[in-house]
Amino acid sequence: MSIRAASKELKKLLGKESVLDRPEDLMVYEYDASLAKGTPDLVVLPQSTEHVVAIVKTANKYKIPIVPRGAGTGLSGGSVPRQGGIVVTFSRMGRILEVDVPNRRAVVQPGVVNTELSARVAKNGLYFAPDPSSQRASTIGGNVAENSGGPHTLAQGVTVNHITGLEVVLPSGEVVEFGGKAADSVGFDLTGFFTGSEGLIGIVTKITVRLTRVAESVATLLAIYNTVDDAANTVTAITSAGITPAALEMLDGVTLRAVEDATHAGFPRDSGAVLLIELEGLREAVEEQAESVKAVCERHQARDVRRAKDDAERALLWKGRKTAFASLGRITPAYYSQDVVVPRTKIPEILRFIEGISKKYNQRIGNIFHAGDGNLHPAIMFDLRDPAQVERTHQAGFDICAQCIKMGGTITGEHGVGMEKQALMSLLFTEDDLDVMKRLHDAFNPEGTMNPQKVFPMTRGCREGVVSTVRPPEVVAEVAG
Ligand SMILES: Cc1cc2nc3c(=O)[nH]c(=O)nc-3n(C[C@H](O)[C@H](O)[C@H](O)COP(=O)(O)OP(=O)(O)OC[C@H]3O[C@@H](n4cnc5c(N)ncnc54)[C@H](O)[C@@H]3O)c2cc1C
Repeated sequence: MSIRAASKELKKLLGKESVLDRPEDLMVYEYDASLAKGTPDLVVLPQSTEHVVAIVKTANKYKIPIVPRGAGTGLSGGSVPRQGGIVVTFSRMGRILEVDVPNRRAVVQPGVVNTELSARVAKNGLYFAPDPSSQRASTIGGNVAENSGGPHTLAQGVTVNHITGLEVVLPSGEVVEFGGKAADSVGFDLTGFFTGSEGLIGIVTKITVRLTRVAESVATLLAIYNTVDDAANTVTAITSAGITPAALEMLDGVTLRAVEDATHAGFPRDSGAVLLIELEGLREAVEEQAESVKAVCERHQARDVRRAKDDAERALLWKGRKTAFASLGRITPAYYSQDVVVPRTKIPEILRFIEGISKKYNQRIGNIFHAGDGNLHPAIMFDLRDPAQVERTHQAGFDICAQCIKMGGTITGEHGVGMEKQALMSLLFTEDDLDVMKRLHDAFNPEGTMNPQKVFPMTRGCREGVVSTVRPPEVVAEVAG
C-alpha cells in the first residue's frame, strides 16, 4: 500500500484541492457520531461519478482500502476508517440533478442533505419522506447506505421504500445502474439489496427517489403521563384501535427534562413520559382520529393531551424530539446511544428491563424512541474519564441488545451494524446465515477493499471486538445542530 504514490496520482487526476493528506485535515474525518475512532491516510472529495471511478481504480492499484462517507452522523462507526485507507466524502457531490413533478421523482447526488430536497420540492406540495432526526445534517447517500428510518417511518416506511433507482460504482471501478424511475424493476431487486448495505458493496453516486405528496391536514398531539408504563401501554392501545399514526414517539422523564431545559418545547418537567403523536391525511379523517387518539390516551391515564395549535407550535414540539440526543449532551459528559427493536407489545417489559440494567450497573439511562415501531434508543450516560464506567456502559449496552433478541427483537432498527454492533451479529444469526450474507458480499466486493472490517463479526463469539474507544457527546450535539 503506497499512500504517497496514490495521493500524488489522485492530485493529478482530481486536482490538488480534492485530496487532503495533512494530519490536521485528516483528524476531522476520524469520527462519526458513534463512539468509534480511526484515522484515514487520505481524504478525497470527488465532484462526479468519473472522479469516484478514478479514486476506486487508484485505490485498487495500490491496494488501499476505501471508506465512503456522507455527513458522518452515523451512529455505528460505518464511515470511520477501521484500518486507515482513503475516505471518500461527498460534500462536493450535493446537487439535486432533476425534479420530475408529474412522476413524483427526483434524481440527486449522494451528498444532498436530507432536508434540502424537501425544501426544494415544497412549492410543488411534495417532500422526501425518510426523516431521520439527523436530517438537517445527514446526506441522502448516507440514508441509503444505512436504510435510515425516522419518526415518520411508522406510516411511510424506511428509506428503501422511497428509493427507485441507484447509480453505483462497484469495488472493481465498474459503474452500474439498479432500477430507475419506474415503480418496480424486473429481476432481482438490487436497489433494495444495496439500500442498507452500509458502504460495503459499492459507492452510490446517483439516487432516484420517490417524492410524497404533503398531506391535506396534520394534527400533532402531546400526551403527558406520570409514568412510563402508562405511556408505553398507550402505544399498543392506539394501534389496537386500528389507527396508524404518521408518527408515534416517546421520551421518558430523564430525556424530556433535558429536552425542555434545552429547547423550551413545552414538555412538563414533572412528568414521567410524553408521547408525541402525529396524524396525517384528509381533514375529516384526521379530526376523527385525533378525537379517538385523545380518548385512548385518557383511558390510559394521560394527565393531559395537548394539540399543537399552529405550524410554529408543531415545529417546536418536533424540535424538542429531534434534538433529544443533543439535549442529553448538556447533562452528561458522554453517552452511548443504543438502537434496538422489540415487538411493540413488549415495550413496557423492555423498559422495566432497562430500568433494572440502570440500577444493576449504576448508570443513568434516558429513553428516546420510535415507539410505534418498537425501536428504542436507550442512551446510557457515563463519564469517559472513568474506565470502570466505560466498561459498565458497554456491558449494559450488551445486556440490552441480548434481551431484545430474547424478546424476538433485533440489535439495530436504523443505525446499522457498522463496527459497533458487528460482534453482536453472532448473537442474532447462525454461522450458516452469516456465511450466506458473506457470499453475497463477496459477489460484489471479493477483495474486501470497500469499507473493510465492518458488519461481519471479526471473531466468532459475541463479546470480542466490541468497540471501546469513546468520546464525549458535544460533537454529536454539534453535528445534530
Ligand atoms: C442526533 C442524531 C440523530 C439521528 N437520528 C436518526 C434517526 O432518527 N434515524 C436513523 O436512521 N438514523 C439516525 N441517526 C444516524 C445517522 O444520522 C443516519 O445513519 C444517517 O443516514 C447517516 O448519514 P450520513 O450522511 O451522516 O452518513 P455517514 O455517517 O457519513 O455514513 C453512514 C454509512 O453510509 C456509508 N455511506 C455514506 N455515503 C455513501 C455513499 N455515497 N455510498 C455508499 N455508502 C455510503 C458510510 O460508509 C457509512 O457506512 C442519527 C444521528 C444523529 C447524530
